[in-house]
Amino acid sequence: MSFEVGHYGVGTPARGSGRSHPSGGPGEAGNPVEREIMKLKFKAKKGESADQLVVSYSCDCGCKPEARYERNADEGGHEHCCCGKVHFAGPRAEQELRDYLGDRRKNGQDEGLGFDLSLDAVKAPWGETVPVAYALPYAEADRAGAG
Ligand SMILES: [Zn+2]
Ligand SMILES: [Zn+2]
Repeated sequence: MSFEVGHYGVGTPARGSGRSHPSGGPGEAGNPVEREIMKLKFKAKKGESADQLVVSYSCDCGCKPEARYERNADEGGHEHCCCGKVHFAGPRAEQELRDYLGDRRKNGQDEGLGFDLSLDAVKAPWGETVPVAYALPYAEADRAGAG
């Protein structure tokens, strides 16, 4: 009797058979829509004077929009980025943002666009906490029927 010792590929995992796929593809149809609203990271800095607050962020379109707020002013400042994002800084930032978007809609601007509103706050150079409100645009057609 003679035995021939061959090669046994013991423990060699089969490759390429995994069913996991890289993330980032489109989600399965039929799932409940779960949106995560993007958050902007605001930076607060001093403007031309110690009584001016400049609130900016690095937009993913490459811009650096700035909203300026003068200490004790009733009105805040805002900037509307070329990509459609808007942010306001000031004590009434949220209301001003809503009014602003409402006016644009009345004027027929932002046709087919909806906005996700978010609130934030930054610390002014003089120590006050100043509200920041921002709106991120989306195409209403993308969300038709949802909610
Ligand atoms: Zn831009
Ligand atoms: Zn932008």
